[in-house]
Amino acid sequence: MILIINCGSSSLKYQLYRPDLSKVEATGMVARIGEPEGYVEHYVGRRGEHTRRKIPDHRAAFAMMMENLLSPEYNVIGCPKAITAIGHRAVHGGSVFFGSVLVDDQVMDALRDCSAFAPLHNPCNIVGIEEAQRLFPGTPNVVVFDTAFHQTIPAKAHLYALPYEFCARNGIRRYGFHGTSCRYVSRSAADILNRPLESLSMVVCHLGNGVTIDAVKGGRSVDTSIGFGTFGGVPMGTRAGDFDPAVIFHMVRELGLSLDEVETMCYRQSGLLGLSGLSNDMRVIQEAAEQGNDRCKLALEVFVYQIRKTIGAYAAAMGGLDALIFTAGIGENSASVRSMICENLEFLGVEIDARTNAIARNGHPNISSASARVATLVVPTDEERMIAIDTVQLTSREADASMEYGTAAQ
Ligand code: AMP
Repeated sequence: MILIINCGSSSLKYQLYRPDLSKVEATGMVARIGEPEGYVEHYVGRRGEHTRRKIPDHRAAFAMMMENLLSPEYNVIGCPKAITAIGHRAVHGGSVFFGSVLVDDQVMDALRDCSAFAPLHNPCNIVGIEEAQRLFPGTPNVVVFDTAFHQTIPAKAHLYALPYEFCARNGIRRYGFHGTSCRYVSRSAADILNRPLESLSMVVCHLGNGVTIDAVKGGRSVDTSIGFGTFGGVPMGTRAGDFDPAVIFHMVRELGLSLDEVETMCYRQSGLLGLSGLSNDMRVIQEAAEQGNDRCKLALEVFVYQIRKTIGAYAAAMGGLDALIFTAGIGENSASVRSMICENLEFLGVEIDARTNAIARNGHPNISSASARVATLVVPTDEERMIAIDTVQLTSREADASMEYGTAAQ
């Protein structure tokens, strides 16, 4: 069995795959780690349970995952040895990791070095790997980086126009995020279109609580909206996205805010939440906008406008567009957001069919109208599956070269 672990700052999510990835045997989550009351969920097919209990730290979270996986009631695995490989999600691989790798001491050291770039995320990813090494001794671990897919972005797109040597010395550049999702859906889109990935110029709109717009040409990321931190680009649930950095100098010097206060404001109180004053949840915003809430209408307008503008910019950067892909919570579920984004993109060849757009989730991924020159698709993302594919490929000597989505390396 292949175990996939996503260890975040306050949660541990896991999925257990059959070795040939033909089925997910179990899924689970241990959430609100360190809070007064935690949440534990474990499912085997439709059978499952959720409980509330205190989870003091990540070690306790791992113990709960083990308890669930080894539970005779669910009969998923009999002993830890039944796990033949473990795949981990890591957020930041700096400029070191271009693809997924098998974990060894050198990889762990490099991962620790990258923690400065993602201080909230990487340390938790590292704890996840260390715990997996402790609880499953001898089992190979693979780490898959959110940033790796974007390492192909050329210098003209990843450099900031700050002093070159300073940035190079300190690793300051555009890294991008959601790379595992963008890699998965861009390959999936090529399959759906039955066209070689190498021949396609696509814009992937990963629209979830975090938002990435990604330009993918020939299967390689060539530009992406998020930058150095998990922050830039278009507005997200609570993150501001791009704005003039002069605002920060003004907040600190003239308005007397501390850097910590500015950071909290930009990461946690901005985006859809900051604009609407109501929520970071798109469902709530849309409902309130429909009922006439002007601030929610405005939040939607800003969100849609910035995404549409980025799609246009990336089409220009790639010299054309073959496919526009929507994925993640908002991208997969909100027909009206998709429709608003595609409005006024007819000049690019993007035209969507209202009927198929409304039923896209039910096996109708292609929502383009008959006359459209660009294929617009709704493709469910599955980062865990992408991690599982890389894990199998990197740990299996007889890896089936034809396994879905090619090699683990970029
Ligand atoms: P994710 O981070 O991919 O889980 O996506 C979370 C976002 O998806 C939140 O803003 C949700 O409000 C949004 N979302 C989920 N389902 C829907 C839906 N049916 N309509 C609109 N937004 C949705």
